[in-house]
Amino acid sequence: MTFVIAGGGLAAAKTAEVLREQGYDGRLVLACAEPHLPYERPPLSKDYLQGKSERDKVFVHDAAWYQSQEVDLRLGTEVTAIDRAGHALGLSGGERLGYAKLLLATGATPRRLPVPGADLDGVLYLRTVDDSERLRDTLAAVSSVAIVGAGWIGLEVAAAARAAGVRVSVLEAERQPLLRVLGSRIAAVFSALHREHDVDLRLGVQVSEITGEHGRATGVRLADGAHVAADAVIVGIGAAPDTGLAAAAGLRVDDGIVVDAGLRTSDPDIFAAGDVANAYHPLYDAHVRVEHWANALNQPAVAARSMLGQDAVYDRLPYFYTDQYDLGMEYTGLTRPGHNDDVVVRGDLDSREFIAFWLDGDRVVAGMNVNVWDVTSPIQELIRSGRPVDRSRLADPATPLPETTL
Ligand SMILES: Cc1cc2nc3c(=O)[nH]c(=O)nc-3n(C[C@H](O)[C@H](O)[C@H](O)COP(=O)(O)OP(=O)(O)OC[C@H]3O[C@@H](n4cnc5c(N)ncnc54)[C@H](O)[C@@H]3O)c2cc1C
Repeated sequence: MTFVIAGGGLAAAKTAEVLREQGYDGRLVLACAEPHLPYERPPLSKDYLQGKSERDKVFVHDAAWYQSQEVDLRLGTEVTAIDRAGHALGLSGGERLGYAKLLLATGATPRRLPVPGADLDGVLYLRTVDDSERLRDTLAAVSSVAIVGAGWIGLEVAAAARAAGVRVSVLEAERQPLLRVLGSRIAAVFSALHREHDVDLRLGVQVSEITGEHGRATGVRLADGAHVAADAVIVGIGAAPDTGLAAAAGLRVDDGIVVDAGLRTSDPDIFAAGDVANAYHPLYDAHVRVEHWANALNQPAVAARSMLGQDAVYDRLPYFYTDQYDLGMEYTGLTRPGHNDDVVVRGDLDSREFIAFWLDGDRVVAGMNVNVWDVTSPIQELIRSGRPVDRSRLADPATPLPETTL
């Protein structure tokens, strides 16, 4: 019997690990399109990008681990097709590989900027370890960059570029960075943070063109005609789930591969986890696709059990973190689209030491601790309990979080 994992990121490597922990001792093949051992991406826009950590640190396991666990690791090997009826896969080398169970952990790919000039040299994206190294070399060689998109990756890259002494312009279509996640009041904290670090943050602007000379980017033209000169342009406008393989095989795809709470696709022998999975979440009674590290770390425990025919449900709350300059934060929970402006703040926004709670009616649905630590568990308990809270107690740092409910 052969189990195959397609995709070589955190979700893939962790699923292999849990399968072995759970006693699966059959053949296990991990086909990974990239030429590197499976690795974690958060350092690629933080310490690794800033040259503060070694490459070895990004790998989920070293090469010896795959050998000792008898994982047949095929690096630089893409799964090109799924023959569901024949229970077999096409691999990029031409091999046909049979499978009894298949996990799709193909992740996501950066969205491309659809404007003239986007193919010029010096226009960079950040997803892979190679991208991160290219960007690090670029930051060491240029004096200015323009970053298109003030999302998490754009802002982390802005912080890394400032640390490298590079002049930074950030160009964002919305009125605030991270507006759709954080709402305007908390998003303003990130505007202030970056402006204090001399980032030229331009909000509510549209990029119409990347300008160039001799095939190389020279800056960005905005829709209002303004030109932002830059030696390199970094695009961080989000990522799209890598669903091509699943869609071609006739699996249900809708903003990701649609899976149930046990991470099973519409085919009983195929499963999905990580950025690519749009999973039914029992707490929200809805499908949720989470593009964050903790999801890729924790879904494999469920995916592996489901592959082994056990009953398992993924119901962890979405969680992510960021580090920018001296701001560290963790965010947990989920707000409804368009419902992120009802916020209670405990602490001080100006000194950037606070917890923000997003409320839906009188219930906490999300919380973000900024430079305040060891509070994730009580925040998650507040969200999970669904109990109404007293807003003034919630805002009072002297009231323990469990005592804020009514
Ligand atoms: C620069 C960066 C910084 C980040 N920082 C944070 C952070 O601070 N906090 C946080 O919570 N999250 C962060 N994230 C998000 C987090 O890294 C992702 O959620 C996580 O990498 C998802 O893991 P995954 O295994 O699902 O997919 P991926 O890591 O995308 O891995 C998928 C792998 O599958 C391979 N693949 C695709 N198709 C095929 C195929 N057909 N056959 C074989 N292989 C295939 C791909 O090449 C890729 O190697 C960051 C992401 C990036 C890019």
